[in-house]
Amino acid sequence: MSNNNISAIGIGTNAVWAGEEEQRVHRATQVPVVVSVAYSYEDMDEWYDVAIGKKSGHIYGRNTNPTVQAFEDKVRALEGAEAATSFSTGMAAISNTLYTFLRPGDRIVSIKDTYGGTNKIFTEFLPAMNIQVALCTTGDHEAIEEEIKKGCKILYLETPTNPTVKITDIERMAKAGKGVGALVVVDNTFATPINQNPLMLGADLVIHSATKFLGGHADALGGVVCGNKELVEKIYHYREINGATLDPWAAYLLLRGMKTLKLRVERQQQSAMEIAKHLQNKAGVEAVYYPGLETHVNHDIAKKQMRGFGGMLSFALKGGMEAVSILLPQLKYAHRAANLGAVETTYGPARTTSHVECTVEERKAMGIPEGLVRISVGIEDVEDLIADLDQAFEHLYQNYKA
Ligand SMILES: *Cc1c(COP(=O)(O)O)cnc(C)c1O
Repeated sequence: MSNNNISAIGIGTNAVWAGEEEQRVHRATQVPVVVSVAYSYEDMDEWYDVAIGKKSGHIYGRNTNPTVQAFEDKVRALEGAEAATSFSTGMAAISNTLYTFLRPGDRIVSIKDTYGGTNKIFTEFLPAMNIQVALCTTGDHEAIEEEIKKGCKILYLETPTNPTVKITDIERMAKAGKGVGALVVVDNTFATPINQNPLMLGADLVIHSATKFLGGHADALGGVVCGNKELVEKIYHYREINGATLDPWAAYLLLRGMKTLKLRVERQQQSAMEIAKHLQNKAGVEAVYYPGLETHVNHDIAKKQMRGFGGMLSFALKGGMEAVSILLPQLKYAHRAANLGAVETTYGPARTTSHVECTVEERKAMGIPEGLVRISVGIEDVEDLIADLDQAFEHLYQNYKA
């Protein structure tokens, strides 16, 4: 696996320490939640200098906040970026980034399997603004290169994807994107900075839904974008005016969650691999999708660009939705929810989570079987997760009549 570590300091150490020192007060070991909306100045010159950015400090909560800044600095360190700016949600990070750079008449190239919300921006909002969108078959690198060659302002990637964990070669695509002067943007939510640093692979901007693995506890929404100062300042300006600001309480929860990011992801991907292998040998399972399996279509690319294969996998049941409806309620250690990246194992059928807006035919055309179930593996003992699956499958065998 590629070992493109971002600095001399380990990523686990940065997850714990980075971004915090500057914000600590009263000798407290933890970053405070600063709830203040505004900041008071006695010296009018100092106020002015902070307001115009000549001096560091804070003016108003929609723009900057110390707790939020600690969160941004920590993610920035983990992605090895020059700058980072945060948002109220992952979708706010994605939409603000796109709207910062795209203008009527522009063209964007992406893939068909992006996150559902992102896909809605591509198919609904951007065309309405006279922005051309070319969506390529995920994993078809030649097709993506062909579309890039026609020229584009942004090349937007997401890898691994939802829910069949397909992989795109970031280095190869970034090179093609740069060739036409495109801005290369990568949604790194599934991989996390523990496994993959798109900026090191040639991307210009990396985006996270911090709601998922970064926070890790499914109790706070947030988003973040990292890249060079010039690009991030433009996005920050767009966000500060449009107002999709991250709340300081959420920033604190995300910051605290991130301290254990490495521990969690390491455990989750270790368990994901065991569960994937176990499911491969289970009767009634049609297919298992996990980039760590040698049977995965893009296993080689995953091995090249990721340090680990992540905590997300999916499997398809032969009995379709009917079998899924028998299996899922039977699981004990499982949230059946539209979330992922949390410490609890979470199951979700594509039909009710990532691809709820699609028809049966559309899902089929996208290569998503009706019996597809996504698993976001938690940090529980893997023996318990496997035993839980086994008893649920026993129940399925007894109750499903093919
Ligand atoms: C959840 C998710 C998003 C959107 O994030 P929100 O915080 O829910 O707005 C974007 N991309 C990916 C890959 C996601 O899983």
